[in-house]
Amino acid sequence: MAKKIGVLALQGDFQEHLQVLERLKAEGREVRLPRELEGLDGVIIPGGESTTISRLMAEFALLEPLRKLVAEGLPLLGTCAGLILMARKATDLALETLRVLDIEVKRNAFGRQVDSFETELAIPALGDAPFPAVFIRAPIIERLGPGVEALARLPEGGPVAIRQKNLLACAFHPELSRDLRLHAYFLNMLSQ
Ligand code: GLN
Repeated sequence: MAKKIGVLALQGDFQEHLQVLERLKAEGREVRLPRELEGLDGVIIPGGESTTISRLMAEFALLEPLRKLVAEGLPLLGTCAGLILMARKATDLALETLRVLDIEVKRNAFGRQVDSFETELAIPALGDAPFPAVFIRAPIIERLGPGVEALARLPEGGPVAIRQKNLLACAFHPELSRDLRLHAYFLNMLSQ
């Protein structure tokens, strides 16, 4: 049976994630309300504007149910703003995050000139071919907790793709490149 993946559809590029899921023959479902979290095999929080998504998650009462599902082992993938929203601490976000991923992040932390860029990343967990990673006003991960594994780093050493048990997050946008491997890796986590 096709895996059912909820994509948080409050703001941001959730359509792109739904398209990737379709190409991978998974069943994507838009999630806006707590009851739409029922019966899912995994959840994706897209890129967008973390302040807006955070505000809407609180307004739509999604924070607590999501925290509970994650604690029960539900796999969660966050990309860019999604990563910020999963973090234990986002230093310059006054609003609430899920605080499920043991990292500390700083928003919009690349300098102005390198605001957005694309680079070929080595991600050994996805195979030998480099991954085309699109960064758009990306956060910087300033601290990784002991249970968090870096799956990819920039040449300067900063982690940009990470995993902590059932949680996967990246500072770039795999949903905007044609490479499906990161989403495929996530779908694999669902059966582990
Ligand atoms: N800069 C955005 C934020 O802080 C994230 C950007 C993105 O998701 N591409 O929420």
